[in-house]
Amino acid sequence: MILGSSGSIGTQALDVAKRYNIPVDAISVNTSVKALDEQVRAFTPRYAVVASEDAYREAKTLLADTSVKLFCGKEGIGEVLILSDADTVLNALVGEAGLRPTVWTLESGKRLALANKESLVCAGEIVMKLAAEKGVEILPVDSEHCAIHQCLRAGARGEAKELILTASGGPFFGYSEEALEHVTLEDTLKHPTWKMGQKITVDSATLMNKGFELIEAAHLFGFEMDNISAVVHRESIIHSMVRFEDNSVIAQMGNPDMRSCIAYALFYPERRFTGGAPLDFAALGKMTFFEPDTKTFRLISLAKEVHKAGGLLPAVLNAANEEAVYAFLAKKIRFADIGHIVSDFVHSYVNKSNPTLDEIEGASCTVRAKIREALG
Ligand code: MG
Repeated sequence: MILGSSGSIGTQALDVAKRYNIPVDAISVNTSVKALDEQVRAFTPRYAVVASEDAYREAKTLLADTSVKLFCGKEGIGEVLILSDADTVLNALVGEAGLRPTVWTLESGKRLALANKESLVCAGEIVMKLAAEKGVEILPVDSEHCAIHQCLRAGARGEAKELILTASGGPFFGYSEEALEHVTLEDTLKHPTWKMGQKITVDSATLMNKGFELIEAAHLFGFEMDNISAVVHRESIIHSMVRFEDNSVIAQMGNPDMRSCIAYALFYPERRFTGGAPLDFAALGKMTFFEPDTKTFRLISLAKEVHKAGGLLPAVLNAANEEAVYAFLAKKIRFADIGHIVSDFVHSYVNKSNPTLDEIEGASCTVRAKIREALG
C-alpha cells in the first residue's frame, strides 16, 4: 500500500514494485487524479484513496470502468488500512497529514516504510511507543536514516556512540545572511543533488529538513540529541555515518538514488538491485566536508532546541514551517522570512509536556490559523 503514490517517493516506489512484481493493493493521492487514473490501470490496486473531495468526484467518473474501490478523504486511508491485506505500508504523504496514517498503520500491525518524517517530528514519542507495543518495525525511507539503519548493523547497539548525518548544504551553501535576503523561489527550487517535491526542496534550502532529520534520527534510533550531529557533504555520496565505541566510523555510500532506499525498506533484511550505476571512486576523485553554518541557517539549531524542550514544540515548529513554506511557494513571503516566522512562533509558544495526539493536532491547527491570519 502506497500513501502519496503520485509524489516523488510514491512514483519511484511504483518503479520498484514494477521491477520486482510486488502487488500494490492500495494507493492514495491528494488531488492528482490523472496520475491516479494511470496508476490504477497500470497496477490494478483493489483500493484507492483521494484526499480532496472534488478530485474524488472526478476520479469516480474517470475510473468508473475499472474495479477499483474508491475512498475519499483522510478517513478513507483509515478505512482502506483495515480492508487491505497489504503487509507493508509506504507512507510518503507530505507534512503533518501523514501523522494519523502512521498511527493507523502501526495499529494495523503492518510493516511501516516511513518517508513521512513529520510523523516523527510531531509525535515521535507516541509513534515509537506504539510501534514497540505492536511489535512493528519502522523502516525509514529517508536516505540519511536508511544509511544509519545500515551502519548500525555493523556493531552492537550499545557500541554505537554517535550518529553523523550528512547534509548537501542545499542551493545556498556558503551564502551570508545578507545574501539570503535576495534569493528567489526559482533559486530555491534548484537542489544540487536530489530531485524531490517542492516542500522538501525548500526545507533543504533552509536546512529545516536537516533539523527535522536530527529529530527523526533521535526518535527512530533512540539517541540523545547531543550524540547526533550533521556535517555538510556537498557530493551526497556518503548518506550518513555511525561512530562506534572504538572511534571506527561506518559510512553508507552510493550514488544518490531514492529507489535503493525504498527497496531497502521494502525488502529488509534482503538487498535488491534497483538500477543505476555503481559508485566510481576514481571518477568521484574526492569528497568534501564542512561544518554546517547554523548561525545563518538557524532552523537547524532551532530543531535541536525544540527537540530537547519536547512537548508540543516540535509539532509547533513543524506547523509553523509548513505554513511559512507554503506562503513562500505562493510568493507571499521572501525566503529569509521563513526562518523569522518559524523562530518567532516557536519562541512565543507556551509549551505543554506529554501531549496526546489530539493536543498535538490541536496545537498545530491553532498555529496554522494564526500564521495564515498574519500573512493574509
Ligand atoms: Mg533525507
